[in-house]
Amino acid sequence: MSIPQNLSNIRAAIPHGVMLVAVSKTVEETRLLEAIEAGQRVFGENYVQEAKAKWPVIKSRFPDIRLNLIGHLQSNKADDAVMLFERIDTLDRISLADALAKAMQKKNRHVPCLIEVNIGAEPQKAGCAVEAVPALLAHARGLGIKIEGLMAIPPAGEEAQPYFKKLAVLAKTLGLSVISMGMSQDYETAIACGATEVRIGSGIFGARQTKE
Ligand SMILES: *Cc1c(COP(=O)(O)O)cnc(C)c1O
Repeated sequence: MSIPQNLSNIRAAIPHGVMLVAVSKTVEETRLLEAIEAGQRVFGENYVQEAKAKWPVIKSRFPDIRLNLIGHLQSNKADDAVMLFERIDTLDRISLADALAKAMQKKNRHVPCLIEVNIGAEPQKAGCAVEAVPALLAHARGLGIKIEGLMAIPPAGEEAQPYFKKLAVLAKTLGLSVISMGMSQDYETAIACGATEVRIGSGIFGARQTKE
């Protein structure tokens, strides 16, 4: 199916008030433009270098586009990330909060963040441990970083619903309003559990050729 058709099907399945983030890693410019022409304005990218190559020219043509960084961020790319993105969704450690605060000050551009939570306590996965989220939140706020909410990816191959519920409870407990959870395969479950935004890639752009 076409990108505009996919977008309109997904929009029809998402309640008003739930934000659709189009995940465009590996998607090339002509196909990004199809989504933009179909009215999509919020995109998620995983890699700083890829976003730097793809987006600045397009953003200069469509100034209302918003880019979220949804992939792991190395501290040494904090300067670039602060300039390229409207929000950073993968703040997951104290040292990255320090690097981002420094970059924001240096570039005089203040970018809100989400805390990425390792909701399934998976040893190989990025994300802040559930128990460490309050301390990271306090630390980031102390540095002047605006934390808007939480983001997570549940463990692969398990039922996602309990993890979505856990993230929603955590956000509520901490008084955070944005809950970014749910991808192409499970966004309807995520919305039923309280997602305020969903991140959908292959459901819009089709299967990715290269492995991420
Ligand atoms: C790739 C990716 C998505 C989108 O995944 P799809 O299954 O293609 O919808 C969402 N969130 C993150 C963090 C991703 O890396």
